[in-house]
Amino acid sequence: MRIEQDIKLDFKDVLIRPKRSTLTSRSEVDISRDYVFPHSRKTYHGIPVIAANMDTTGTFEMARALARHELSVALHKHYGEAELLDFFAAPPAGGSTFYSMGITAPDFGKFRRVMEASGEAGGAIENVCIDVANGYTKAFIRFIHRFRAEFPSITLMAGNVVTGEMTEELILDGVDIVKVGIGPGSVCTTRKVAGVGYPQLSAIIECADAAHGLRGLICADGGCTSPGDLAKAFGAGADFVMLGGMLAGHDESNSEIVEINGERKMRFYGMSSREAMNKYAGGVADYRASEGKEVLLDYRGPVENTLQDILGGVRSACTYVGARKLKELSKRTTFVRVTQQLNEVFGAA
Ligand code: 5GP
Repeated sequence: MRIEQDIKLDFKDVLIRPKRSTLTSRSEVDISRDYVFPHSRKTYHGIPVIAANMDTTGTFEMARALARHELSVALHKHYGEAELLDFFAAPPAGGSTFYSMGITAPDFGKFRRVMEASGEAGGAIENVCIDVANGYTKAFIRFIHRFRAEFPSITLMAGNVVTGEMTEELILDGVDIVKVGIGPGSVCTTRKVAGVGYPQLSAIIECADAAHGLRGLICADGGCTSPGDLAKAFGAGADFVMLGGMLAGHDESNSEIVEINGERKMRFYGMSSREAMNKYAGGVADYRASEGKEVLLDYRGPVENTLQDILGGVRSACTYVGARKLKELSKRTTFVRVTQQLNEVFGAA
């Protein structure tokens, strides 16, 4: 047994220190980014925020709404082949949409068929997210090798991991964007069930450093609870940020509104929760525990308004540190460790 004594940090443990700046208004800030992916060699332009591949955020409706603002969506993996084909035959212009899959033979078979058929229909899948709860297994790495050998020009995001050495391994294996985060999610219970995880801000800092040394990219996945957390993730070196809970509870969630005591609510649950497994896998298998939970969120209407808040927050952070472009934010970020974030004398707003 070994104990690492370095302190590892979460979003709540830091604030971004303001710096002298010549910027006078948030409107002068450009929060889009341009990337060339190291393996697919494809170029990317957009606001690097991705809706999570959960079934109430990774929806076709969300993809269309976010594309209008150049944001992206990772579709959830429970769509049928016919509807995926229709979508990818004419994907929305603006954002990039990721096709999501696990690492089973049926997952791969389904992907091959949709890929081929959408190509014949004139569209094409350009981005894929290979998503497993634990990115440290041999089976995952073997799958990445097979996928990359068969599809050299697809932009590949894969994870999840939380350490620099595994980030390097994945990039060397053919991954363009390493997805970073184990346990920070709003409806994730892995830390409670398994006792496994890593504070998300430190995971981002360490994995971004490892990835950038190899010209790879990372996506910070999970744990953002406010626009300020996105600013901290970008400040820590994230190239993309993935959001679940912050984008849930909207019209685009493709989920029913339930009325409870006269209030309109929407269900939101982890993709490894009992609720999700009952819905998609006929229940929780005997050998495993559920690693997610279900919550009821206030219904929030169209996602458009929430997007304005999120993007406004990131722009504001850039203004405070004098970053004219999002690209400059991490270079201009100094974090200060704090023991208190907010003044909650009048309650948590
Ligand atoms: P959020 O933005 O809501 O804090 O986090 C979203 C992320 O939580 C997702 O992108 C995914 O990585 C993770 N997640 C979603 N469902 C589950 C689950 O059931 N269990 C665990 N461990 N993580 C989940």
